[in-house]
Amino acid sequence: MQRDTEIFDLIDAEKERQLNGLELIASENFVSDQVLEAAGSVLTNKYAEGYPGKRYYGGCEVVDEVENLAIERLKELFNAEYANVQPHSGSQANTAVFHACMNPGDKFLGFDLSHGGHLTHGSPVNFSGKLYQPVFYGVNKETGLIDYDEVARIAKEEKPKMIIAGASAYSREIDYKKFREIADSVGAILFADIAHPAGLIAKGLLSDPLPHCHVVSSTTHKTLRGPRGGIIMMGKDFDNPFGEKLKNGNLKKMSTLLNSAVFPGNQGGPLEHIIAAKAVAFGEALTDEFLHYMVQVKKNARALAEAFMAKDYQVISGGTDNHMMLIDLRNKNISGKDAEEALVKADITVNKNMVPFDDKSPFVTSGIRIGTPAVTTRGLVEEDMATIVDFIDRVINNYQDEEELEKIGNEVIDMMKGKPLFKD
Ligand code: PLP
Repeated sequence: MQRDTEIFDLIDAEKERQLNGLELIASENFVSDQVLEAAGSVLTNKYAEGYPGKRYYGGCEVVDEVENLAIERLKELFNAEYANVQPHSGSQANTAVFHACMNPGDKFLGFDLSHGGHLTHGSPVNFSGKLYQPVFYGVNKETGLIDYDEVARIAKEEKPKMIIAGASAYSREIDYKKFREIADSVGAILFADIAHPAGLIAKGLLSDPLPHCHVVSSTTHKTLRGPRGGIIMMGKDFDNPFGEKLKNGNLKKMSTLLNSAVFPGNQGGPLEHIIAAKAVAFGEALTDEFLHYMVQVKKNARALAEAFMAKDYQVISGGTDNHMMLIDLRNKNISGKDAEEALVKADITVNKNMVPFDDKSPFVTSGIRIGTPAVTTRGLVEEDMATIVDFIDRVINNYQDEEELEKIGNEVIDMMKGKPLFKD
C-alpha cells in the first residue's frame, strides 16, 4: 500500500509544533516513547468485549494479561481495592459512574462549570445535565476558594443523591474529608473526579480522595502522563443504595454496577492498545523518577504563579497548590480569547477559560488557564518560569503587534531547542 503522505505529513507538522512550542495547556502532557509504542501497537487489532477471564471473543489470552497488569498497577499506584481501566476517556468514565450511582432524573451536586467544574459535572449541553438534575456549588467571591459551609448548606437544602468533588480549573487542595462529612450528612454518594491532579495524588503530593470518596474517576493523559483515556477506582467496594437491585431484592455491589456501566452500559470493545499504554504509564508512575517529576511540576507551578503575581497578574485564589492556575486578565484589558490567539502566534499554547463570576461568554472569557505538566516533561525548571512569564507579558502587552509576536515566537523556539522529546 502506498504511504498516506497526506496524513503522515500532517503528523510530522504536529510533531514540529509540539517540539518548537511552549506547551502550557494544563490538561496536556507528553508521553514517553514506550507509552507511544504501546498505543501504536498491534493490540489495536483485537476485540475483547467483556473483562479478563470473561470475554465475548476468542483469542483474548494475551490481552487478558495486559489488562490484568494495567488493573494491578493502577490499584498499587492509588492503593485501590477496585479499578476499571476500560473507559475510553474521562467523560466516558464519568458517564459510567453516573449510570452506576444514580437513575436518570436523580439530583446531584457538582462544582459550577464557570467556577472550574467540568462539562460532565452538570453542563446543560452534556449527558450529565440532560439526563440528571444538577445543582451547583462554587467558590467564594473574595477568596476564590470552595466554600465548604456553602456546599453543606446547599446539600442540606437540595438532598442530592451524589456529590462531585473535582474540577478542571481549581488550583487548590480539595478537602475530601470535609466533602465526605457533607455527603454522609445527607446520605449522598461522594464521587471524586481527579482527572487533573491524579499524578500528584498518586505520589502523595496532594490529599488522597480514595479513603474518603465512594468512587473516584480520572483521565490518564494529564498529570498521569499516559495515553488519552479514563479510569475508575474505589478505595473500598460498597452496596449502592440508589443503584439497580439484584433479582432477590438485595443491593448490587458498586463494583458490579461500575463494571456493567462501562461495558455493556456505555462501551463495546475496550481499546487494548490504549490499555497496554495505560499499563506502561502506570508502571512509570510507580517509579521514584515520576515522584521527582511530579515534585518539579508543583515547584514550577508555584514559581510560575509567583512570577505572574510579581507582574500584577490576578491569579485566582492568590496562588496554586497543584499543577495549574487560573488568571483573571480583566486588569490587563484583554479577553481570554484574544490572549489565547496572540500567544499561539508566539508559539505559546494556553487555553482561554472562564474565571469565577465572569462577565464574558465561554467563547470569549476573561481568563486563561495555565499548567506546568508538559513544560516540566520537557525539562524546564523554576528559573525558566520567570522567562515564560516575561514572554507571556510581552505578548499580552503587544497582542496586536504581529512583528513583536513573531519575534517572541523565535525566542520561544530558541528556548525549546536542545530540549528533546521524541526519539527519531
Ligand atoms: N473530568 C475533568 C475534571 C476534566 O478536566 C476532564 C477533561 O478535561 C474530563 C473529566 C474529561 O476527560 P476527556 O476529555 O478524556 O473526556
